[in-house]
Amino acid sequence: MSRIIGIDLGTTNSCVAVLDGSSVEIVPSDLGGRTTPSIVAFAANGERVLGQVAKRQEVTNAANTISAVKRLMGRRYDSDEIQKIASFLTYAIVPSDNGDVRISVRDREYSPPEISAMLLQHLKLLAENHLGEPVTEAIVTVPAYFDDSQRQATKDAGRIAGLEIRRIINEPTAAALAYGLGKSERERIAIYDLGGGTFDISILELHQGVFEVVSTCGDSFLGGEDIDRAIVDWMVAGFRAETGIDLSADILARQRLKESAEKAKCELSFEPRARISLPFIASGPAGPRHLDRTLEREEFERLAAPLIERTTGFCHKAMEDAGLTPADIGKVILVGGQTRTPAVQRHVEAVFGQPPSLEVNPDEVVAVGAALQGGVLRGDLRDIVLLDVVPLSLGVETQGGLFTRVIEHNSTIPLRKKNIFTTVADHQTVVEVHVVQGERDLARHNRSLGKFELVGIQPAPRGVPQVEVAFDMDANGILSVSARDLLSGREQAVRITPSTGLGKDEIDRMVAEAREFGENDRKSRELTELRNRIQARAAVLVRSYLALGSLLDAADQKMLNEALRRARELGPEDGDAETLGELLDLVEAGASRLSEAVMSSPGEGQGGDPGGTEKPETGMRNLMKAALDDMEHT
Ligand code: ADP
Ligand code: MG
Repeated sequence: MSRIIGIDLGTTNSCVAVLDGSSVEIVPSDLGGRTTPSIVAFAANGERVLGQVAKRQEVTNAANTISAVKRLMGRRYDSDEIQKIASFLTYAIVPSDNGDVRISVRDREYSPPEISAMLLQHLKLLAENHLGEPVTEAIVTVPAYFDDSQRQATKDAGRIAGLEIRRIINEPTAAALAYGLGKSERERIAIYDLGGGTFDISILELHQGVFEVVSTCGDSFLGGEDIDRAIVDWMVAGFRAETGIDLSADILARQRLKESAEKAKCELSFEPRARISLPFIASGPAGPRHLDRTLEREEFERLAAPLIERTTGFCHKAMEDAGLTPADIGKVILVGGQTRTPAVQRHVEAVFGQPPSLEVNPDEVVAVGAALQGGVLRGDLRDIVLLDVVPLSLGVETQGGLFTRVIEHNSTIPLRKKNIFTTVADHQTVVEVHVVQGERDLARHNRSLGKFELVGIQPAPRGVPQVEVAFDMDANGILSVSARDLLSGREQAVRITPSTGLGKDEIDRMVAEAREFGENDRKSRELTELRNRIQARAAVLVRSYLALGSLLDAADQKMLNEALRRARELGPEDGDAETLGELLDLVEAGASRLSEAVMSSPGEGQGGDPGGTEKPETGMRNLMKAALDDMEHT
């Protein structure tokens, strides 16, 4: 049975972990890091780059670089959340036919799950390269606050990527699992997770392998990026005061400002001040202008304070929902890169009346927990139970546009709840039910998940038919609906029209495309590997050839010359599998000719020279042999 990898699919950074025996390993990124930026970029030639490589070219290719796509998952284009961030995005978004968000890049539109799928495919590949075996299954984490459409979108991303998401678990639950595994005493903990784009606070009870979320809340639009933006605004205002130039309209400048703001922020976690220096940021009537400022930690904390302060209310609400006070919380665990800021740590201490625990790695703990859950599903880890909760109440729209709750938030999942529906008119055979998720009293203020119709109801006077509708929430926090006509006992047909999300046809098309792209990716990787191998072998061979080529006859010299010339001139895009294969054969044939010539030339086999003095050519020959051996291993 192949392994189930754990993926923390973050807004800003993603991390992959895998259970190996009894310990969890972090899968290295392609450039050797332990996390991978959640960024996909599209080059002019249609090529895609991901992760760290995509982040590096972000400034120069801003409009085609998609970052923080998680913020768009399962959202409607005209929702408040999207409108709020639309102007900060460096790439274009447009509405789809059904009102979802689409990302418009180069001459194509992509749905957020498609972009997420590209990230998942990349992470899957990293894991496969690391493990040396295929990976087909994963546990993926999402913020506890993700609603049904956002979870559904995450699942769609997995399907498109050809990765079966065995379970979606909440990030804080994963963190608690990683923290609490093997601890036997009963403990009540708070997980304070401030990442790049989301804030989550959850209270859990840990007891002998049971990890029970008792309450959770947060803000899916609050994180480190908002702090970066506050620094950018500070820089823009300062620059305007100094030069009269407004940098905010210039996308390239904004992108550079954003990059340096984040860098300064991270430095300020360890240093009292950070210097921000951006030469040639603008040009004015007086020629090029440079931005050069120092941000003191005090000033930085003043800028970040209102954002950090916004986490307070959520912390209190989580405790209130759990019926607890700060004194009841045994430990506060910090998760997310942004919790490295000392002001955040001081704030947490003020809210909970105790310094937060620093015993887990805030960047990796969520992926570690996901990998552990993978171990649980495979049966490698036993006696562990995760009890997640419904993040937002679910219900239906009733008379007058009211929201009637069927499943209360913070109920433990999986669960099933039933409600009876009836008709409002005589002989009505169809009832429309509008499913809504949220905490507001009016349905239209909440998230519309979809509408379904109960059809084929037996004609009867109004109020007489009784249709029992069951809401099933699975362990992933995803809802499905079924219905039964109580009078006839028949299963009632339910026709759901999701108000957001991808249709089956769309997903099928995306799956096919992703597979094809994955196939192309694999092919182009194979070609690259072939080119690398040719060049590595040629590089070794050329040294030996220069020293000993004269031992070859004219025809072989010509062959080797030709092979080495072709290898030297090989460009990164040159050749198909066949010509590259031929060239590799040619280089190898040349190498073995040279090897044979060396072995059969006089002087070979005189290693045991009685005089102990080695002739110069023999020394050269040994060197040559070592080089050829070396080549065998490249
Ligand atoms: P996400 O869960 O959203 O993917 P992460 O947990 O990776 O996010 O956190 C990313 C955020 O943490 C970014 O805003 C980044 O700037 C911030 N961050 C990373 N390291 C530090 C640091 N040393 N000091 C302050 N903030 C940091
Ligand atoms: Mg995170």
